[in-house]
Amino acid sequence: MSLLQHYEDQLTRLKHSGNLRTLTTNVQQARWITIQQHTMLNLSSNDYLGLASDLDLREQFLSQSSAYLSSSSSRLLTGNFAAYEECEDVIAKAFGREALLFNSGYHMNLGILPAITDAKTLILADKLVHASIIDGIRLSSATYVRYRHNDLVHLQTLLEKYHDDAAIERIIVVTESIFSMDGDETDLTALVKLKATFSKVMLYVDEAHAIGVRGERGLGCAEQYQVMDQIDFLVGTFGKALASIGGYLICHQVIKQYLINTMRPLIFSTALPPLNVAWTAYVFEHMQSMVAARSYLNQLSHDLQQQVRLKGYSSPSSSHLVPIIVGESDVALSKANVLQQHGFYIMPVRPPTVPKASARLRISLNASIQQAELAQLVQIL
Ligand SMILES: *Cc1c(COP(=O)(O)O)cnc(C)c1O
Repeated sequence: MSLLQHYEDQLTRLKHSGNLRTLTTNVQQARWITIQQHTMLNLSSNDYLGLASDLDLREQFLSQSSAYLSSSSSRLLTGNFAAYEECEDVIAKAFGREALLFNSGYHMNLGILPAITDAKTLILADKLVHASIIDGIRLSSATYVRYRHNDLVHLQTLLEKYHDDAAIERIIVVTESIFSMDGDETDLTALVKLKATFSKVMLYVDEAHAIGVRGERGLGCAEQYQVMDQIDFLVGTFGKALASIGGYLICHQVIKQYLINTMRPLIFSTALPPLNVAWTAYVFEHMQSMVAARSYLNQLSHDLQQQVRLKGYSSPSSSHLVPIIVGESDVALSKANVLQQHGFYIMPVRPPTVPKASARLRISLNASIQQAELAQLVQIL
């Protein structure tokens, strides 16, 4: 009893500060989500292109696939089914460089960063990078310093400070292209330019929220800004717009071989089911031609950003992720409640996911949302 008391106290504390989280069951159909018999427009999903809820696409795929439902081992043992290499080929061909797959975006960041760094490495990471990146850094033996969010001037100052330190062999700059919680973007053009002036620097960019959504062929912000070849570690997930599961890295052949030999989550975890990997390849090919959906989503996003600001709210967004920052957790919680009662499934995001006093409503748009639905939402705001 007394051993459990400690955890119970923590939960009580979370509850009192409005930060207690619980799991809720839901039923999803197209752009709708039903929770406890209340059906709402789903504005919290990462299914940005509506592909996860595209039943026709799923039927087409399943009618021609009979892949295994388990790989039964890691890829280095007997798990390396043809589906893996076929999927890597599809992705490598699209990016024009080598590709390596991982079980999830979380595995990817958790595994790559410790593998590619040592005590002679300095990691410079944006202050707002995803938890999986933070955990990867924590597992590494590198020293690390965080630069102010999206502040490339601060990054440059740090690079100048550390670059000529003889004890540092390489500096890895880690950032996201579109940030999950702010929906703002890194200036990749400027970042790549900055990198080019320092010989020890390698770039690591996470495109989790940009893959499928940005660039002519949906390859992310790196494609949009034409910097794909200048990013040493270009990573992303299949769990969001790609409607599947898994992570990928676009890199040099040497890095790929090195990771196959050193990356612990790749070596010591059972590889994804071949069926999922075949589905990823299928969706990835399909996604590249969805130019109209991408352009519609970008238009919708600009409209919402503008209208949210016209309503007097602050939002740093320049993407399909549009947070409305309200401050305290209880305010976010009660505003989210009102919106949900009106049929819009928007979730509050609270500390510790975001910094203290920056609790927010996070609107996550997708290409199947209609203009009229957003107009209604804005009215309620
Ligand atoms: C979602 C996310 C991940 C994790 O990807 P999963 O495939 O869901 O594990 C990693 N990085 C960023 C920036 C993310 O938003």
